[in-house]
Amino acid sequence: MTQPLQLKAYAKVNLGLDVLRRREDGYHEVRMIMQTVKLFDLITLQKNTCGQIRLSSNLPYLPLNEKNLVYRAINTIRTAYNIPDGVDATIEKHIPVAAGMAGGSTDAAAALVGMNQLFSLGITQEELIKHGLTLGADIPFCIMRGTALSEGIGEILTPLPSIPACWFLIVKPTFSMSTKFVYENLHLDEQMKHPDIDGMIQAINHNDLTGITYRMGNVLEQVTQKHYPAIIQIKENMRRLGALGALMSGSGSTVFGIFTSREAAGKAAEFFRKDPGIKQTAVVRPFSKDLPQSKPHKNHKHFTNSTKKYHSSTQREKYSGKRGRRNTHEGHKS
Ligand code: ATP
Repeated sequence: MTQPLQLKAYAKVNLGLDVLRRREDGYHEVRMIMQTVKLFDLITLQKNTCGQIRLSSNLPYLPLNEKNLVYRAINTIRTAYNIPDGVDATIEKHIPVAAGMAGGSTDAAAALVGMNQLFSLGITQEELIKHGLTLGADIPFCIMRGTALSEGIGEILTPLPSIPACWFLIVKPTFSMSTKFVYENLHLDEQMKHPDIDGMIQAINHNDLTGITYRMGNVLEQVTQKHYPAIIQIKENMRRLGALGALMSGSGSTVFGIFTSREAAGKAAEFFRKDPGIKQTAVVRPFSKDLPQSKPHKNHKHFTNSTKKYHSSTQREKYSGKRGRRNTHEGHKS
């Protein structure tokens, strides 16, 4: 029996989320500012000799078959690289499920990275990202991590400098949101208020936390707040308790606030924990890929010219070829 391999699968929030148009195939073209946060699931992988993929999890309601993205990620690598061994995978969930934090996508990303390590396959990150894209539009970002602009249907990624040091308060209400429902009820022809994504990129480039929080916006809130006004209430309370900005992440229902001190974020978390309408809270830092955040200007300099885009026409072709296998995870579709 080989040693088990344990990986952290980090959640994301959207600092900004704009939807540009609905494509003819039903997918939505988006412009999003993605931010990895240090709230993570633990994925453990171990080879087995029975030749099967066997999943277990601490959450009883999580599917443990091919409906689970971890299963599909392992299977994708086994098939692509003709691996006869089976894999046992445990999924210790801490990221709220169906909450707009890409929980399933990041677990799949960790499984792809883990399979590469477990079987010493030497797959490049670019190649892993291509495999990830066949499983879901958010998976490439979950492999890349950090701060990024995400365009297309979520597959065109441009890395951005790390945001300044701050604290995120994550609040998951007791109700969940279906991504499909939210996109189905998004009517782009209406007079919509769109977030200033370009302004936010500038603020990120200038290491300007106030400028970032000032521009936080998510078009999908205009759908979810109609059905769940509690989201407005949570945001108002976060601001009242000291958040520079508060926003719903992705298609919800998670709401996050950005604070400059851990103490203030912690106090706000205490307030929400007493609320029976809140299921889970967490106070976490943003995940930064580069230099320590105590030296933000160095980060900035380091990344100013970093505009490499993780996208190719091959990815797009491959993606459209797999359309029949997509589920709600795989794109921003209604
Ligand atoms: P996104 O932000 O990408 O829209 P989400 O955070 O809203 O995703 P997930 O937590 O990924 O949503 O869960 C959506 C559905 O995916 C759940 O109903 C769950 O049953 C299924 N699922 C499959 N695999 C996983 C996994 N490893 N972790 C969580 N959910 C999973």
